[in-house]
Formats: sequence, C-alpha cells, structure tokens
Amino acid sequence: MGEFELVIVGGGLAGLCAAVEAGEQGADVLLLEKEEDIGGSSVLSGRYMAFAGTNMQQDQGMEDSSSTLVEDMLEVGGRVNDEKLVAAYGELQLDTYNWLVDHGIHFLSIQAVSGHSVPRGHTIDSHQAIQALYGHAAALPNVTIAVNSPVSRLGRGETGQVDQVYYEQVGKPQAAYADKGVVLTSGGFSHSKELLGHFAPHLKRTIRIGGPGNKGEGIKMAWEHGAWMRDIPYLSGTYGFHPTAEGPEKSQALAFYKGAIILNQKGKRFVNESLSYKLLGNAALREEEDSTYQIWDQTVMDQSVPGDKLYDFDKLLKKGLIKKADNLQELAALIGISPEALQLTVTEYNEGIEKGEDAFGRNTLTHHFGEPTQIRTAPFYAFETKVAMLATYAGLSVNPRAEVLNPYGEPVPGLFAAGEIAGGFHGAGYMTGSSLGKAAIFGRVAVKSALGKTLTKQ
Ligand SMILES: Cc1cc2nc3c(=O)[nH]c(=O)nc-3n(C[C@H](O)[C@H](O)[C@H](O)COP(=O)(O)OP(=O)(O)OC[C@H]3O[C@@H](n4cnc5c(N)ncnc54)[C@H](O)[C@@H]3O)c2cc1C
Repeated sequence: MGEFELVIVGGGLAGLCAAVEAGEQGADVLLLEKEEDIGGSSVLSGRYMAFAGTNMQQDQGMEDSSSTLVEDMLEVGGRVNDEKLVAAYGELQLDTYNWLVDHGIHFLSIQAVSGHSVPRGHTIDSHQAIQALYGHAAALPNVTIAVNSPVSRLGRGETGQVDQVYYEQVGKPQAAYADKGVVLTSGGFSHSKELLGHFAPHLKRTIRIGGPGNKGEGIKMAWEHGAWMRDIPYLSGTYGFHPTAEGPEKSQALAFYKGAIILNQKGKRFVNESLSYKLLGNAALREEEDSTYQIWDQTVMDQSVPGDKLYDFDKLLKKGLIKKADNLQELAALIGISPEALQLTVTEYNEGIEKGEDAFGRNTLTHHFGEPTQIRTAPFYAFETKVAMLATYAGLSVNPRAEVLNPYGEPVPGLFAAGEIAGGFHGAGYMTGSSLGKAAIFGRVAVKSALGKTLTKQ
C-alpha cells in the first residue's frame, strides 16, 4: 500500500487547489483522478467566480464587500443555507481570490449574474485556470497526480479514522494509506441516473451537462462511513441552455439578466426573470412543454459581451441558435407561437415596466441590480431555452473546517470534502460563481484542517 499524508479524490478545481495547498505546506500528497483528463465540471464551467472587494472591482469603481456577498448568498438561498458555511466563504473569499491570482489564474472581466446585487462574477478562462493549478501541483516534488485512477471505496484503520483509499490503475486494484486524512473533491452527481432518480425525479425533463466522471461515487463512499447530506430538497436545474447544449457545445444565453422576457409556448410570461436561474428552472419545469423562449429587442442585443459564455448573443446569432425578425409577428411565426399572444405579452410587459408595476414583480435585471427596459426597438430576437442539470450542489454535510459530518453533526474522523460534493452552502437558490468559489476556498480549507493548520486569513 502506497503511503501518503493526504489522498485527494478528484482533480477538478477543488482537488487541484487542495493539491497545491497541501504540496506547498510540505505534505506528501496523492491526487487520484478517475478520467483521462483532469478538470471535471470545472473546465466546462461558465467560468464565473463570486468574489467581493477585489482590486478589479475597485478599479472599476464597484463597491462590494464580504458582508454584502454573504447577505446576497443567504437571501438567494432562501436563508435555508448553513449560515456558518456562508460566513466562512465570506471570511476566506478575498484571500482565496488573491491566492489564485498569485498562482497565475487570470481574471478577465466582471459581470452581474444570478444573485448579484453588485456585479461580482469574476470571469476566468477555465482551461487556463486548471492548467495553471495543475502546473503548480505537478511541479511540487511531494505531489503525485494519477489520472485514469477511479477510487471505489474508503477504509478505516484501528483508530476509526478514514485512512485507506481503494482505487484502480489500468484496471489493476491499488490501495493507498492516508495518514492525515482523505479529501473528497469528486464533484457532484449530475451524470448519475441512479442518484438523480432517487433524489430528484422532478428533474427528469432536464438536459444533462457536467463533468463525465460526476456520478456521485464520492458521496456513496462517504455514506458508507456515516456521512449525512444537506440541501437534497433543493436540487434544481439551471435555466438558460439551448436544447443543443446536451452535445459538445454548451450554448447558453442569460439574456433575461440583460432585460429579455421569458415566455412559454402559449406566448405568456410565467415568472419574474430577475430571479436566480435555479428558481427560473423550477418555474420552467412547471410549464407543460420542455422548451420555453427568451425574447428580447435590439436594446438588449446591444449588451452582448464578446467571448462571454453567458452573454455573447452575437455569437449565438451567427451560429443560428438565436432567431431574428424585424417585427414581433414575424418572430412569433419563426418560433411557432401565436403572434397575437406575443404582441399582447410584450405590450403588457412594456406598460408594467413604464408604471413600475410589473405583473410578476420584476423591477431589476438581476438580484437588486439594474433597471429593466421596454421591449420595443426592432429587430427582435428569440432563443429557445431549456433547463439543464449541470451541477447538483446538494451534497455531504460539512462544517466550516470542511470536515464531513455524520447525522449528529460530529466529524467523521479523517474525512474531508470540498467543492460540489459538499452541501449546505447554497440552500434553496444559487448565486452564480459561488460553486467555483467554494471549490477553491474549501479545497484549501480541507487541507489546512487535515494538516492541523490555522484556517483564518493569512
Ligand atoms: C456548463 C457548466 C457551467 C457552469 N458554470 C459555473 C459558473 O460560471 N460558476 C460557478 O461557480 N459554477 C459553475 N458551474 C458549476 C461548477 O463548474 C462546479 O460546481 C465546480 O466546477 C465543481 O468543482 P469540483 O472541483 O468540486 O468538481 P469537478 O470540477 O467536477 O471535479 C471533480 C472531479 O472528480 C473526478 N471524480 C469523480 N469521481 C471520482 C472517483 N470515484 N475517483 C476519482 N476521481 C473522481 C471527476 O472525474 C472530476 O474530474 C458550472 C457547471 C457546468 C457543467
């Protein structure tokens, strides 16, 4: 059996941050990744990270703080998220942002996305970020990274501590001993028919996106050793994907956060478009048909952000995924909905916006941010939109030290978890960027806890 101080299971953002942190602390570490390539869902992601009070925000004159971020996260999460976990995110987020910058991650721009009362979606190039962290980890002599190495079970020694990791390499069974603990960073279960079937049958109609290896194996391994779960009732899809996103191109548009309206196939609105896209997903799944439409005008189109995964509307138009017409009647014909219904909906929406009395209570673009505009400037646009299951967010019960907890709130000795596998952070809603954010923050926290280091800001 190979002997290490720490074994990390899964090589996405959380696992790589953990590996770099552990390696730099001088620990002997093994990182095991099931797939041929590292990166998991992290590398596929929309690439927003939620940080507050950064030098980038200050340079752009944006006022934000950890406390505003924490308040937004709790409000968006319906205050059923774990306050202690959210507080720990708030306490450690700026330090982690600076740590990522110091480790070569390039932050490119800032946008307001779901749940942001201040623009705080710091964009990264996810490939660049993963490669930079991988480069740091691989350069450390005390860090071993093994791909094509699926972990299947964990074992406990005589002391009761989880310290054995069973995995395969090239089809051969292997085992490793982890003296100071095992850190689970194996992501969520968006690709597990079994777990989604058990816990979220209401999401059957969603399209499935996410890291191919994300089948919830780490969660099962932790259950075997007594772990409890958080946020299962709030499992939800994400609104905003084109039906073709099930394929290799994850085409997504969040025009509703720039002022588009959302309609069902009867041509009627059914939701306040400024809500978290998780809540929009829940609302869309209550509609009869699988597809709904985002409708907008040239005023919104002018806010297309070149190269952005959520807001590059011009690119989606060029690909033929957005329909365009000179008037609403033609647009309705292109997408097969009643022209009269579309015209009526837009007229009523425009009147509501003018009077500040929207029928669904919309008075911002996204969470407390931005002013909606009327839909009246030709040409007009439509984007067929579905709900996708791309990240599960419900997961293992953990405390702010990233220790995995049993149903009585007691740590399972030797077992730590970080990233999407951990529950409790998001509650009933979701703030964009907080999943990559928590992966980076708590990947490092898990290592520090296992090694007995201080968790506060450095
Ligand atoms: C299309 C898309 C867009 C997204 N956009 C955003 C965004 O803009 N902002 C945001 O914050 N979040 C976003 N998310 C969610 C976010 O990307 C994930 O929640 C986050 O990357 C999870 O990081 P992680 O390190 O925990 O897991 P992952 O990055 O998924 O890594 C887990 C790794 O563990 C490996 N693994 C699994 N099981 C085993 C096993 N048994 N043995 C060994 N290895 C195993 C997997 O193969 C994988 O490589 C998005 C997700 C998707 C799919």
